[in-house]
Amino acid sequence: MYLIENYTRLPVRFVRGEGVYLYDDKGKRYLDFISGIAVCSLGHADPDLVEAVCDQAKKLLHVSNLFENPWQEELAEELVREFWTEGRVFFCNSGTEANETAIKIARKFWRDRGEDRYRIITFRNGFHGRTYGSLSATAQERFQDGFQPMLEGFDYAVLNDMESVKEVFTDKTGAVMLEVIQGEGGVNECEPGFLKSLQEFCREKGLLLIVDEVQTGIGRTGYFYGYQGYGIEPDIITLAKGLGGGVPVGAVVVRKDLAKVLTPGTHGSTFGGNPLACRASLTVVRKVRKLLPRVREVGEYFRKRLEELGAGRVKGRGLMIGLDTGTNCREVVLKALERGLVINCTAGKVLRFLPPLIVEKEHVDQAIEILKEIL
Ligand SMILES: *Cc1c(COP(=O)(O)O)cnc(C)c1O
Repeated sequence: MYLIENYTRLPVRFVRGEGVYLYDDKGKRYLDFISGIAVCSLGHADPDLVEAVCDQAKKLLHVSNLFENPWQEELAEELVREFWTEGRVFFCNSGTEANETAIKIARKFWRDRGEDRYRIITFRNGFHGRTYGSLSATAQERFQDGFQPMLEGFDYAVLNDMESVKEVFTDKTGAVMLEVIQGEGGVNECEPGFLKSLQEFCREKGLLLIVDEVQTGIGRTGYFYGYQGYGIEPDIITLAKGLGGGVPVGAVVVRKDLAKVLTPGTHGSTFGGNPLACRASLTVVRKVRKLLPRVREVGEYFRKRLEELGAGRVKGRGLMIGLDTGTNCREVVLKALERGLVINCTAGKVLRFLPPLIVEKEHVDQAIEILKEIL
């Protein structure tokens, strides 16, 4: 009634969750295979996460970035520990903010060197967020329509096509930004060979390689960071979604020598990395690390069972899986919901599965039974 109707909402009211299950206001139970779009990595009401959040709420919710913040320091150390080289971290509150930060760092990196290399190459069907920098980086008309003019300086290439990258490269290009698996774009995987060539190209031309790990990061693909599964070494990665397990938090991890681009006063966030968010995220990060072998195993099993269904092409890695049905899949989502399975349809025809990282094979079996009935 009083809400702006910018979302197409499904007719269900979830009021409670436990593990991989959600419950609506009538007490009906649902198997959650979307996790708030890759957010609730530990499932719902994880006792350790609940404990951390409640404990911190009793002590101190927020402290300004005018002051020291030991929770940020502790979390940053955990995030850098998983990075391929020495790194530094900036905290914000969402994926789009993390990407804005990455874009600002890339631009200022070159400005500081007195070079006019402000342009960034991004990829068709990518998704980087809704604020102007991130939206301009998002090479999809359906998100940009009506909001032009976009921010200057983005050139769009085609995923898995090195020639298209070389075509849009100019002497003003300073960075390349991409997802190793495009999430919103339809669970489109980068070919390992393409990423290797892209990394080589970046090194040859001195370009910064930015990997948007907002969806692929923090265990989703079976690796702590999605890029680790491809053997590349990005200069900057951006994180959000699963990082807080449901508490809003975003982060940017950069190679140590890039950290000096953001000198005091050049960038900031009021809420970014507040104690509540950091305590939640610390719990998530430490628990996800132990879940990685299981994410791979259950992910493989899920893929195999989906392939057996024979209802389309199966895509993705770990617990970031798509089923390209070839036709509009909105009906399937509604029917699944009726039968107590929460899934999502992206890019029009790709059923997307993003279960909590704690999901087990028996839950996969339950989901497959429901999908079998519908497809
Ligand atoms: C969801 C998403 C974003 C945007 O994150 P918000 O928290 O909604 O701003 C950016 N990049 C990728 C890859 C995403 O999946």
